[in-house]
Amino acid sequence: MSDVFDQLVGQESAVAALRQYARAPVHAYLFSGPSGASLHDAILCFAAALQCPRHGCGECEVCRRVLREQDADVYWAERSGLSWRVDELREIDRVARRRPLDAGYQIVILEDVELTVTGASPSAPALLKSLEEPPTRTIYLLSASELPSSLDTVVSRCVEVKLRALSDADLATTLVREGVEPSLARSAALAANGNLRRARVLARDPALTRRAAAWRALPERLRGTPASSSELAREVAASLDEAAAPLRAMQDEELARRVDEAREFGQRGVANRRELDAQFKREQRRFRVDETRFGLRSLTEVYRERLVEGLEAQRAGEVRAQDRVHGALRALDAVAEANSRLSSNLDETLLLHDLMLRLVEL
Ligand SMILES: [Zn+2]
Repeated sequence: MSDVFDQLVGQESAVAALRQYARAPVHAYLFSGPSGASLHDAILCFAAALQCPRHGCGECEVCRRVLREQDADVYWAERSGLSWRVDELREIDRVARRRPLDAGYQIVILEDVELTVTGASPSAPALLKSLEEPPTRTIYLLSASELPSSLDTVVSRCVEVKLRALSDADLATTLVREGVEPSLARSAALAANGNLRRARVLARDPALTRRAAAWRALPERLRGTPASSSELAREVAASLDEAAAPLRAMQDEELARRVDEAREFGQRGVANRRELDAQFKREQRRFRVDETRFGLRSLTEVYRERLVEGLEAQRAGEVRAQDRVHGALRALDAVAEANSRLSSNLDETLLLHDLMLRLVEL
């Protein structure tokens, strides 16, 4: 069977459920899975399947319109701050009460729904109210990469669709299918940390190998003074900007494509332009976090190698081998701690600075 869900590699059980759901949908679905598990792609495919008269053939005009994110009845909610605000939820509720223009459904998409329970005045109660009694032809599609218990009541009002992290092999397969040369696809997949979008960016990034080597060289270069550590932290932060350049190029291409399409359809500008800009910014932000995570993983590898060498030296009875073992262990702790702080920490420059300062002594 060939349909709109074919592009969701590595999500067989979720896809099987979604194919069923598309034929007799309920009023709300919650897509959950680790960030990078292609939540966005899954929602897009499901929205197409809901609107398509053939439940997601992937070929008809309706499917294509939804996949291009140009269906007037599919609304992607826009968030302006770090968490969802109550007035934003009210706007979403207003859209949800609209009658669909075409024969399908009024679909309302709300991503990062865990951000309705954070911030000074959580907006989850407003969301709950909307989920309680939506009009019959409205369907909510929510997504979350984390499900804190404070989200339980929201979760209980939705059918859950669980996506899993993509394996390196899934990512490589997807890239090869999209035309990437196999060996490049493999190295991009390895550095992508289960994130499809990131894998796509890395597959067109000629500097990937050089960046991986730069991270691995850090421990050796850190053998110096605290001054050199802050120098290195600045250098690494700059490399994060450089790493995001291919992503920005992809986004520029996407924007240009949409401008052309809008012109073709006789529209004056790109629909949902503000939403698109906000989405691009979020993507850049996530990319920096993922790139940092990739770097920390490279550092972990180096210190693990040092640990193994130290342990071997210890067995061979070398003097000061114990210092080397302790140094490697403390370095591994420092890197692990930086990694756990990364998800919530908003300024990775500061985090890198702290980390370099700790590692310079080891
Ligand atoms: Zn179709």
